[in-house]
Formats: sequence, structure tokens, C-alpha cells
Amino acid sequence: HTKNNGRNGYNFFQPSMNTLAQSQLQLNNDLWQALDNDELRLFYQPKYCAPRGPIIGFEALLRWQHPTRGLLTPDKFLPMAEKTGMIVNIGNWVINEACRQLHSWHLQGHPHWSVAVNLSALQFEQCNLVETVTTALTQHQIPAELLTLEVTETTAMRDPEESVRILTELTNMGVKASIDDFGTGYSSLLYLKRLPASELKIDRAFVNELQAKSEDATIVSAIVALAQSLDLKVVAEGVETEEQQAFLTGLGCNSLQGYLLGRPLPPDRIGELPEFVGVLEETAK
Ligand code: C2E
Ligand code: MG
Ligand code: MG
Ligand code: MG
Repeated sequence: HTKNNGRNGYNFFQPSMNTLAQSQLQLNNDLWQALDNDELRLFYQPKYCAPRGPIIGFEALLRWQHPTRGLLTPDKFLPMAEKTGMIVNIGNWVINEACRQLHSWHLQGHPHWSVAVNLSALQFEQCNLVETVTTALTQHQIPAELLTLEVTETTAMRDPEESVRILTELTNMGVKASIDDFGTGYSSLLYLKRLPASELKIDRAFVNELQAKSEDATIVSAIVALAQSLDLKVVAEGVETEEQQAFLTGLGCNSLQGYLLGRPLPPDRIGELPEFVGVLEETAK
């Protein structure tokens, strides 16, 4: 039997193969097709200067406009792409597409907006990441400072020494680095201090439980204090209520992201964000 399940390859579904394996193979093939057929999309979630604006920039979040299954979120297909390594091809597409969008926003009169892109562990450790980023910035004429690369705490601490090296190379170009999902991994504070990141993102699990669990409020306060003492900006993700917004602002979080302020939207619907709808109403008066 064949194991050729790569690009343009054929899959021979064995009757003995379980349905889970079959659907995984199918998904793998479909995902290669998706890259070729432009079915991948980036949605953009606004990042606000605390407490309620203005918009500083956006986080690019991957979606797959699947021909039969509809719009898929990353949890439906990224784990598979990480297993096969296809995440690197997808990730390169994401970096380029985010820079293209940034250029288009510049032309539309938003030269200060920045964009944050999520990197998978595999992509972060690719030796040609610097080249991919440089090419995308140059091709779309984007100042490096407007691109942030988000790496999860878990990824950054897998091989901390190596992470310091990679992030130093990237930040020397002017690109910014953000430590995502902070609080869920196991940081060595020694390395955290040495990582040339400019920002910590508090994981939304802690933000979520702020009111319900007093220990989560304690953890969030500790993260903010830690970030401040390391001279890092703090972003809170997953802000859904005004109470959370007030609490996080009070602690000194620099920026906020969450459904309360704006959901991830395709670029042609950014104008629906409360900020712009508000502006339109004002000028209509
Ligand atoms: P993340 O980078 O931590 O992104 C935040 C996730 O929380 C996003 O889910 C976002 O839609 C969601 N979110 C934002 N605000 C709220 C809120 O107020 N409430 C709730 N309940 N959720 C909120 P999404 O888009 O499904 O992405 C999930 C994860 O997939 C991301 O977590 C990131 O790790 C990964 N991901 C997304 N896009 C990419 C990509 O282009 N490349 C890579 N490697 N990973 C990506
Ligand atoms: Mg992120
Ligand atoms: Mg996160
Ligand atoms: Mg996350």
C-alpha cells in the first residue's frame, strides 16, 4: 500500500482504515487544495489602547472558507497542519497576506495601524523565517515596526536559549515580538527577562474568570506587575464584559482585545466596528 499522502499525491483508502484516519487524510488533501484555491482567509480583531481606544492595530486570525463545510476556525484544521508540517506553508501565506492587508490599510489612510501574526512552533523554528518576514515587508513596503509576531509562552520556552537567538534576529530587523497565552506555560523568569519581546498577552482563560475566581484576579495582577517590572507592555485578550475592561485598565494593562470591543472580522467589514460606526453617526449629525 502507499503512504503517499503528500501534495498532488493519491490516497488509497484501505477498507480496514478507520474513519478517523480517512477523514484526516481527506482534510490533509483538502487543505493543500485550500492553499492553491485561495480558500484561506485572515480575519482581523482590533486591539484597543486601554480602556476604549483608539484602535492600535489588529491581530490576524486564520479562517478557512471550506467549499462544503463553511467557515472553519483554526482548531478544526491547524492541529493537522502542525502534524504534517503544512503549517509552515500556511504560516508563510499568513505573513505575506497580513503585510498585503497592512499596505492596503495604509492606502486607505491608516498608516499607524499595526498587525500581529501568530506563529506556530514549527514556523518559529524554521531557519528561513527571517527571510520570509523580510521579503513580505519589502514586497509590501511595510515598516518593520508595524509587524508583531505572536509566539506562545509554551513555544518560546521549549528551547529558551534558541528562542532568545531567533527573537533577537527578528527584533533587530525592527519587528516586534509578543508572548501569547501568557500564564498557561512554564516560563523561566531568567529567560523571560532575556527575550527581546515588547509585550505579554494575558491568556483569555484568566480574563474569563476574573469575576468568578478571586485567584484569577490575583494571577492577572501578578502578571501585570511582572510585565511592568520587565518593561513589557501588557495586552489582555478575551475581554467580554465592562467589569473586566475596568479591572484590567485599573491594573495598568496597556491594551485590550475581546468581543466587548470588537470581534474578528474580514477586512471588508472592519468599518462595522463600533469605533467607525460611532464616527459615521457623528458626521451624519
Ligand atoms: P490566540 O492567538 O490566542 O487568539 C485568540 C483567540 O481568541 C482567537 O480565536 C479569537 O477569535 C478568540 N477571541 C478573541 N476575543 C475573544 C473573546 O472576547 N471571547 C472569546 N471567547 N474568544 C475570543 P481563533 O481565531 O479561533 O484562534 C484560535 C487560535 O488559533 C489562536 O489563539 C492562535 O493560537 C491560533 N491561530 C489563529 N490564527 C493563526 C495563524 O494564522 N497561524 C497560527 N500558527 N496560529 C493561528
Ligand atoms: Mg494570538
Ligand atoms: Mg492568545
Ligand atoms: Mg490562544
